[in-house]
Amino acid sequence: MIFGWKIIQGGIPVASILAIRGISVDLVCCFSRRKQETVDHLFRDCDFVAPLWVRSSFHFNSQGLLHRPFLQWFSVMVSLLAAAKDWENLVQFFSLLWAIWLSRNNVRFRQQIVSPDDVLLIASQWKVRGMQAQDSHLSSSNLGPSPRPASLGFAATLAGDPTSGFDICLISDGSWSSSDNSAGAGWVFRDCDSPLIRGGGARASLSSSALQSKLQACFWGLRSAFSRGFCRILIYSDCEPLCLMLTHQ
Ligand SMILES: [Zn+2]
Repeated sequence: MIFGWKIIQGGIPVASILAIRGISVDLVCCFSRRKQETVDHLFRDCDFVAPLWVRSSFHFNSQGLLHRPFLQWFSVMVSLLAAAKDWENLVQFFSLLWAIWLSRNNVRFRQQIVSPDDVLLIASQWKVRGMQAQDSHLSSSNLGPSPRPASLGFAATLAGDPTSGFDICLISDGSWSSSDNSAGAGWVFRDCDSPLIRGGGARASLSSSALQSKLQACFWGLRSAFSRGFCRILIYSDCEPLCLMLTHQ
């Protein structure tokens, strides 16, 4: 998680960042030897790295976001996995980023030959560690589930009979950059009574505000749900204005 935070803050010393600070380094990506080693290239766009994301077990398609800025892609991915409480894939997401960084250092500083399988193996080992750490944290706290404050959220029925049950949960989120109005939206479908992710999607767009990007994400998620035949949909959102708009308040 700290590593992820450093990525967001530009604190990972990739070659392009070191060059800006006046440090003389080989600027070329050590994996592909083609382009400059930037955060975007090293962790997502490199021809060596991109297939690793395809091979990892994320259950939703983020293709629509891949042409957007790396940090936007990063924040939507983390937001979606956290909102879906999909801790296993969230740990895997960070494990793969960390494995890419460790492998890059092995190639760059130790002249090791690294294959895609080597990187995925490192990622899987760190994922196991991450899940074990999470399990031990949960068992050591041993406090049981904390009661959810009533003020934390509210529920409302938009249409239909609330006692008839739901087909699927829709969890969506959007991100927005005020500098160029670029926006990203993502959504996942989750079982109502288990953490199983049934799919989802993501797409990039332009937006005029953070609220609009969240509305877009919810709208596209609903449209995708209808096209899959889901009619009784439980919508989760952490965006209070969106909830108020949906309930006409
Ligand atoms: Zn490369």
